[in-house]
Amino acid sequence: MRQAGILFVATAGIGLVSDVTPGLIGHGHRVSLYLDGATLFVGLVLLALQHWRPLGLAAPFALPALAMADVATNNAFGFVPPATYGTWFVLVFVWVGIWYPPWTIGVLTPFAVVSYLTPLFVGPAPTRGVVDSVVLVIPAAILAGTTVAHFTNRLRSSALEREMLLSNVGRQAVTDELTGVGNRRLGELLLASLVVGDALALLDLDHFKEINDAYGHPEGDRFLRTFGDFLNSSSRERDAVARMGGEEFMIVIRGAGLEGEAIIARLLESWRSREPLTSFSAGVAVHKSRSGPDLTYAAADRALYEAKKGGRDRVALARGAL
Ligand code: GH3
Ligand code: MG
Ligand code: MG
Repeated sequence: MRQAGILFVATAGIGLVSDVTPGLIGHGHRVSLYLDGATLFVGLVLLALQHWRPLGLAAPFALPALAMADVATNNAFGFVPPATYGTWFVLVFVWVGIWYPPWTIGVLTPFAVVSYLTPLFVGPAPTRGVVDSVVLVIPAAILAGTTVAHFTNRLRSSALEREMLLSNVGRQAVTDELTGVGNRRLGELLLASLVVGDALALLDLDHFKEINDAYGHPEGDRFLRTFGDFLNSSSRERDAVARMGGEEFMIVIRGAGLEGEAIIARLLESWRSREPLTSFSAGVAVHKSRSGPDLTYAAADRALYEAKKGGRDRVALARGAL
């Protein structure tokens, strides 16, 4: 719509310059001035209403038809140099090919034939061969339009496919296959992205070996998947979860500070009520200024060790946090 608006305004601009320049076509003709004024008006309306949906839906037929009617009317009054008449129809079809689906060209073809021929019979008597030229101009216009539409379509869909492929590959590169949470690579990126006040939590399932021993490794895997789903669905959009290995997970809670401990304690409570089979232990550390991510990770790891030593099924806050 915006493109169409600009095209109509530009065409009208060129026409108006020609209307007021002595010696150029249309100069001194009031009708030419009106026609170019009307074209300018259409262009401005399109620019003003470019986001109005009903107009957007009508645009594929209405705009090319309007453009062809404009050319035909100008021709009827003798404001189009005869040698350039056909070129305008080819241009309209190329434009349609770029912006609209290929079938639009088929629908527009009968209209193009009618608008091409009409001014030749209502205007000044056509010179020899001009009427016959319709059998060359319209097929040439269709060919140009469909070729452009075909390649534009191919370009668009391959760009879309590439985009989807890249975003898929990107997502897979940081996703843990078993649990669907982030993988260790994402964990490392999250660590590197820590800012002061972020809380870092390390979670480790309690006595997980016993689950494997009692129910088998595949059931243990299923259990890990359930835990991953639980963590993913319990974390906020901007917080992030990563499986750092085995049955150890990391959560970064942005800007939580010391609140991080209570947040993980609530998480533990909610997990217990869902899966009474096993609990987890967690160590929480708050990222401080000037302490590198490694130090924060080590502090959370020490707190996790404390939680295990203290009897498991609990959350411990790293001493000296903040
Ligand atoms: P705790 O942490 O409470 O000290 O006891 P734990 O039994 O969980 O001990 P630990 O963390 O040392 O053991 C982790 C176990 O998790 C060992 C391994 O069999 C199991 N495990 C690690 N990765 C996987 C996995 O991908 N799938 C399954 N099913 N089990 C795994
Ligand atoms: Mg464990
Ligand atoms: Mg472990």
